[in-house]
Amino acid sequence: MVLLHRFSLLLFKPSCRGLLKLRVCRNLLIFTWKHHGLSSFPRILGVRQVSVSSAQASLFCPGGRGDGNIKEKLSLQDVASLLKNKQCQRVVVMAGAGVSTPSGIPDFRSPGSGLYSNLQQYDIPYPEAIFELDYFFQNPKPFFLLAHELYPGNYRPNSAHYFLRLLHDKGLLLRLYTQNIDGLERVAGIPPSKLVEAHGTFATATCTVCRRSYAGQEFRVDVMEGRVPQCPVCTGLIKPDIVFFGEELPQRFFLYLADFPLADLLFIIGTSLEVEPFASLASAARSSIPRVLINRDLVGPFISQSPRYNDVTQLGDVISGVETLVSLLGWTEELRELIQRETEKLDAQQKDS
Ligand SMILES: [Zn+2]
Repeated sequence: MVLLHRFSLLLFKPSCRGLLKLRVCRNLLIFTWKHHGLSSFPRILGVRQVSVSSAQASLFCPGGRGDGNIKEKLSLQDVASLLKNKQCQRVVVMAGAGVSTPSGIPDFRSPGSGLYSNLQQYDIPYPEAIFELDYFFQNPKPFFLLAHELYPGNYRPNSAHYFLRLLHDKGLLLRLYTQNIDGLERVAGIPPSKLVEAHGTFATATCTVCRRSYAGQEFRVDVMEGRVPQCPVCTGLIKPDIVFFGEELPQRFFLYLADFPLADLLFIIGTSLEVEPFASLASAARSSIPRVLINRDLVGPFISQSPRYNDVTQLGDVISGVETLVSLLGWTEELRELIQRETEKLDAQQKDS
């Protein structure tokens, strides 16, 4: 499995053009790879044995949860029942900007309200320059102004973040893949081991010259006082580990090669599924498991392909959608208590700092 994983990893760098397919046949997990332009047939990379419990078997079977070939459309209530009855307990979540905008974090892509539209104050030639390495080396100040804005403390997690924290507390969260760079998942108390911050994080930083790693916290004072942080060893420019245009995604992103075949439920929350390769993860889960989209609009495979019987959509306001699910789960009071406890903790921390 390790060799296979490495092999897959080599093939699946973001620059590679192709499609990795994982499918389950009986109790075998089959990896195939289709490279655009090389062959019209996917190549079999390997096969791994998986054990399938009876509960999962009911999800795997061609007839879905129904009998025979009748595929009864799954509802949000059904998904809540699957979670409550622990029939789904390896939940993978994909989260995007829509999870953070209710906390006041500017959205990168919404016209008008988006971050790009608000960048005039940074005096940069064009909005995307703030995430371009060439521009960063020439003028790192606009990026550090953004860093100052997004450093932990300015914004608070909302009930969507705390719902994900509850999933973790109940042992149901396999992994949370987030496109957000605001770190609110960490602030909500989800441990870094459960996170894949696909577009990077301010929690760690790297010297652009000697490549030494630092905790983001070490440069907090510099960032807060408007200084560009420098490496204490070589005086090189320190760059928080945010993924810039053209940079490779963090190695942790490739955890999806193991996570998505194991997932028994996929939540897609608050994302337009427009940025690759993150967007393609939505199709990386097994077709037999329920996918739940909680989002303002239909996006990605939920509009471009014929709907699956086990695709569930909860459209409209993201927070309302999450709260509807929480209510169906019977977790409303628990979530309220968690938010109260964590808010008091954050208030106390803010007082001390
Ligand atoms: Zn250095």
